[in-house]
Amino acid sequence: MGEFEIIARYFSRRSGREDVLLGVGDDAAVVSVPDDRRLVVAMDTLVEHVHFLPGTDPFDVGYRALAVNLSDLAAMGASPAWMTLSLSLPTADEQWLESFAAGLFRLADDHRVELIGGDTVHGPLVVTVQVAGHVESDKWLTRTGARPGDRLYVTGVPGEAAAGLALIKAGRVEGVAETHLIRRFLRPTPRVALGRALRRNASAAMDVSDGLLADLNKLCQASGCGADLNLDALPPSQAMARLFTPEQCERFVLGGGDDYELLFTVPADRAAQLPVSVRCIGTIVAGNQVRCLRAGREIERQALGYDHFGADHK
Ligand code: ADP
Ligand code: MG
Repeated sequence: MGEFEIIARYFSRRSGREDVLLGVGDDAAVVSVPDDRRLVVAMDTLVEHVHFLPGTDPFDVGYRALAVNLSDLAAMGASPAWMTLSLSLPTADEQWLESFAAGLFRLADDHRVELIGGDTVHGPLVVTVQVAGHVESDKWLTRTGARPGDRLYVTGVPGEAAAGLALIKAGRVEGVAETHLIRRFLRPTPRVALGRALRRNASAAMDVSDGLLADLNKLCQASGCGADLNLDALPPSQAMARLFTPEQCERFVLGGGDDYELLFTVPADRAAQLPVSVRCIGTIVAGNQVRCLRAGREIERQALGYDHFGADHK
């Protein structure tokens, strides 16, 4: 099967978006951006062996390739609309392509994202998705707006994805708790609707891809402030607690990556307007230190085993 047949069979799918004036098949795509909006663009690449293990279900590869991109748009408060796909394939494996496309379009359909173009080449297995969307003028979210006194929030349970990856690597894939955690790694939930809702309330936002503490540090650095992180507000999930020791759980929660949850800050007087599904995990403070507190007292980094985690995970 040649390049054109692959494109025609698996990637020429109109979704009915009226803002796609020209999609797959010409030299480039043409889309229409609403007058009162700004274009928002993000791109992420998944490399076999580096970002996913050989033998990963191609459905999950397709799903995840878009999910990590949608998560970036969510963190901007943007509405996703279009994507392009660059595929480097070692072979034209029809079963692989069928399943990959099914995973990609499953999530694309959930968010009404249309594939409008791409590139298909022969090479090692590498999947790059670029997603584009739009946001109301001057209403996008950034990492830079956190101020002392703001409250710090996160969605979901950070660490579940890293716990899932550890289970995959250990070959522990049977069982309800195992399946749940592995799924959190393979099919992250981009928090698009929440990101949209946060446009009115959040002072800063980003998605958690490198680990909670690492990404909180980035947010604080970008905003020129520090944070007090309340570890009591960050218990592991039931599934994590069942399969791992409290020490392992803490490392996953604070240091694990690949969650694609949203980390954001909200001025205290606007906190009441947030949905109940988000958790307050701390406060933004003056200075440039991120401190971890338990029962109101600071815990030293070494006592968290956090640095060790960094060494054996990455
Ligand atoms: P060109 O040589 O003009 O760059 P290509 O032969 O690479 O065009 O691609 C032909 C058409 O198919 C273009 O519209 C391109 O955007 C689209 N396309 C190529 N690969 C993919 C893909 N993996 N997914 C979606 N569209 C693709
Ligand atoms: Mg091309």
